[in-house]
Amino acid sequence: MEKELNAKQLIELEERYGAHNYHPLPVVLQRGEGVHVWDVNDKQYFDFLSAYSAVNQGHCHPRIVEAMTAQTRLLTLTSRAFHNDKLGRYEEYATRYFGYDKLLPMNTGAEAVETALKLCRKWAYEKKGIESGKAKIVTCEGNFHGRTISIVSFSIDPDAFDGYGPYTPGFVTIPYNNVEALKALLESDPDIAGFLVEPIQGEAGVFVPDEGYLKACYDLCKQHNVLFIADEVQTGIARTGRLLACDYEGVHPDILILGKALSGGAYPVSAVLSDDAIMEVIRPGQHGSTFGGNPIAACVAIVALDVVKDEHLAENAFRLGQIFRDAMNRLCEVSTVASYVRGRGLLNALVINNDKHKDLAWDICLRLAENGLLAKPTHTNIIRFAPPLVITEEQLRQCIDIIVKTVREFE
Ligand SMILES: *Cc1c(COP(=O)(O)O)cnc(C)c1O
Repeated sequence: MEKELNAKQLIELEERYGAHNYHPLPVVLQRGEGVHVWDVNDKQYFDFLSAYSAVNQGHCHPRIVEAMTAQTRLLTLTSRAFHNDKLGRYEEYATRYFGYDKLLPMNTGAEAVETALKLCRKWAYEKKGIESGKAKIVTCEGNFHGRTISIVSFSIDPDAFDGYGPYTPGFVTIPYNNVEALKALLESDPDIAGFLVEPIQGEAGVFVPDEGYLKACYDLCKQHNVLFIADEVQTGIARTGRLLACDYEGVHPDILILGKALSGGAYPVSAVLSDDAIMEVIRPGQHGSTFGGNPIAACVAIVALDVVKDEHLAENAFRLGQIFRDAMNRLCEVSTVASYVRGRGLLNALVINNDKHKDLAWDICLRLAENGLLAKPTHTNIIRFAPPLVITEEQLRQCIDIIVKTVREFE
């Protein structure tokens, strides 16, 4: 029998034997269901992080768990050296779902971003005719696209890149939400191959660009034969109140990057989607992944996407997001602690006034946890609120009460 360990002992194990590359809230979770998680003392919480929007479909969604366990008993991994009887069905399902010719399956978000960068460069040489080794990809200040060497090479967050050089060349960083900056660059540099952008910058603190920004950038990309690459790893799959955040502006990215909620949080599943004219530049042996496209991932992703449609999660996120921001706006009007709220659908952030007390957002999150709601600060003074999209209006109103009550305790 495994020895019973309390929360403190379990945290100590991680501290002692695990690398210290995270700073979690001191909560040890044991199980989850829908919008709820429970810690080792059986205390119940509302999960307002949803594993950075991976658990949009709710914890341990019964249909997803069923699909996963059934396939686990049948066949888990073949590698792509052989076909499996699930991958093609998933690829057909997902390409129709998002409106692309082809899908390239990977596992994590960062891998999918890397895949998109490779695809873009190869397209630049084979199709656009940029001289070998000269292609550049434009990225935005405040970006978060993952943790690999190449991806942190174009991060402007010192925590993300400091100490990890030498960096991968071939990236140009411009201000986010600035059409003119992109225009000037595309007009002056013929070696630009792609523009990599988050439709809303999640990790940066839920920065929503001005209306029309994405469409204007997309049009500029078309005009200059530059690929518009959308990283919807966090914003995609109903989180912002539409299937994709790009849908708000009618933009159909040339390359679409998905991860996180593609599996409902059950399994690492990511994907890159594009049409044939782009995807055909990668041929057998030129890119791959041992686990990418495995039959468990394929089964899980089909069901996870099915749940999003069947349970109208985008519509729910759109409607409840409005209610949430209205309530937070009312709170901010009378609060000295909460400054303002921003976001779309159920991806929102409350900005905390930490002029007097630097750790205020962290302390609020500790108190929120005591009061039964889990959220995590980002960039010291921003609290992201992103519950599973299966949350009901009644549950959301309960959560609003918890947040309002907790913030008031700090006035
Ligand atoms: C989380 C995230 C990633 C990286 O995904 P991992 O699965 O952690 O590698 C990439 N892009 C965005 C926008 C993300 O939010």
